[in-house]
Parts: sequence; structure tokens; C-alpha cells
Amino acid sequence: MSASINSGPPIASPTLQYLPTFNNKVAVLRLDAVHPVVSGNKWYKLQGHLAQAAAAGKRTILTYGGAYSNHIVATAAACATAGLQSVGIIRGEAPEQWSPTLLDAQALGMELHFINRTSYREKTIPEELYKQYPVGSIYVIGEGGMGTAGTTGIIEMMNNLPIDNFTHILSAVGTGTTLAGLIQASKSQQQVLGISSLKDNLELEAAVHNMLPPTGKNNWQINHEFHFGGYAKHKPELIRFMNDWYQLTGVPSDFVYTGKMFYAFQQLWLQQYFPENSNILLVHTGGLQGNRSLPAGTLIY
Ligand SMILES: *Cc1c(COP(=O)(O)O)cnc(C)c1O
Repeated sequence: MSASINSGPPIASPTLQYLPTFNNKVAVLRLDAVHPVVSGNKWYKLQGHLAQAAAAGKRTILTYGGAYSNHIVATAAACATAGLQSVGIIRGEAPEQWSPTLLDAQALGMELHFINRTSYREKTIPEELYKQYPVGSIYVIGEGGMGTAGTTGIIEMMNNLPIDNFTHILSAVGTGTTLAGLIQASKSQQQVLGISSLKDNLELEAAVHNMLPPTGKNNWQINHEFHFGGYAKHKPELIRFMNDWYQLTGVPSDFVYTGKMFYAFQQLWLQQYFPENSNILLVHTGGLQGNRSLPAGTLIY
């Protein structure tokens, strides 16, 4: 899958990085490294949504996110590539200083509107947009690119990779859309393990289940133990681990999703959760751009 973004290099095919520290029995799927601005799974999740928008003849894509949202940047980039207008509805009042994420999105042609947290929760569309874009011309994508349409690009990406030999596939989980795609792309003898980034999200299993075909596989599980306090929360232990992991493997991670996933992997590895002769694929879902919300110097990369 390759496409070009008008203000940067094209999305590259993702590569597998085997880790000598784990006897080359563990590999990281580097979705973080496919593009300098768009980091990770969000690009792939958007492909199915954009196909639906195109099929419906819509030229304007509207979606939602916070000031450091990976999804907002990826939507701006994917729409720029597809020649579509993008509109980002951002949670909270407009700040005096825009985050680097929002500046990137704007540079990619996205029009940004800030709405207060109550309106955001209700996913309202600001009135003034209806004056600008005729009713019916806007295609709305849910927060994070969630939903069944989000799984197709993940499945296609996975089907193009030489990964049949892995016994386990691990990924960070937010809405579960990526995990649903990974499950569908997996072989039934492979185990797919999601690491939830949210605290006690008890609806997650049902949400994933609903995105699978009726004859869905049951070779998957979600672990809820490694949230570090909840969504976008972190602790010194996590930051320390992320720096150590980078020194050990050369793989940078983000504090919202992938840092927690790699941490969980290391804990499970130490607990001998994985049977001998396992081959483990760690899906790096990206999100590195979000680390720009941390104070400078927090991370060594
Ligand atoms: C959004 C995101 C996820 C979660 O993806 P879901 O499909 O919502 O589960 C995981 N990792 C990163 C880096 C993300 O940006």
C-alpha cells in the first residue's frame, strides 16, 4: 500500500524488526516508521472509511479528536492524499498556543474548529459548518476511526506481510478496531492478545466482538492489567521503561498506547506466559507524535 501525501514523503510499506535481545523470536511490526508525520495504525484504519466516503460521493471528511490526537493528524494526511477536504472538531476551547499536532494537521489542509467539552461529548457539528458545506456533503468519521470500516485497511495491511509463522500477535487497544482487524487477518492457530490502554473498559470485548463477522474466531483475548491509571495516564515507572526499552531495542514508543503494550509484553515474557518456541509479533501502532505533549527531556528519543 503506498500513496503520497502532498506535503511529505509517501507512506512506506511497514517492516518487521527482529529483536536479538529476545533471541530473534520476537519482532516489532514498525507501523510507527511508515511516515514522519503519520505514525501508526490510524492511516490504515482510515482507508475503509475513505472508501465509503468516496462510494457515497462525499468530498468533505469531518472527525473528532483532542489536541494531541494521532487520528486528527492521520485524517488530515489521508484526506490531503485523497484530495478531500478535512475538518477536525477539537475538544476544548481554542488554546492561545496550538499544539504541534494541530499545527501539523492545519499544514496538511485540515480546517479546525474548537468546541467545549460538553458539545464534544455529544459530538455536535458546529452550526457555521452547515453554512460552509451543504447538508449531506459531509462524511463523519467517529473518534479514532472506530468501527467496522476501520478494520478493512488493517486486514489488507496484515495480509501483505510474511507473518504466518508467529504464534502470538500483540497490540495496544483503544476502541478495539485495530484488534478486530488483526483478529480477522490472523490464522486460527495464532493467538491475538490486546493490551487495553483504558482502565476497566468492560465494554471492550463486546465492541470487538461486534466488529467481527458472525463466524468470528475466538483465538483472542484482552488484558486489562497494564493501563497505568487509565487513558493517557502515565507513571514514572512507565516513562523509565520506555527509555530502557528504547536503549535495549532501539524501538521508540508512545506513553498512551505502545509503551504500555511493550511493558505488558516484557512482564508476560518474564512471567513465562509464552510457551517455549513461541514467535511473537508486537504490532507497533505508532502514536509517537503524541509524545510531544510530554515535557522536553522526559524521553531520551
Ligand atoms: C488509536 C491508537 C491505538 C488504538 O487503536 P484502536 O483501533 O482504537 O484500538 C493504539 N495505538 C496507537 C498508537 C493509537 O494511536
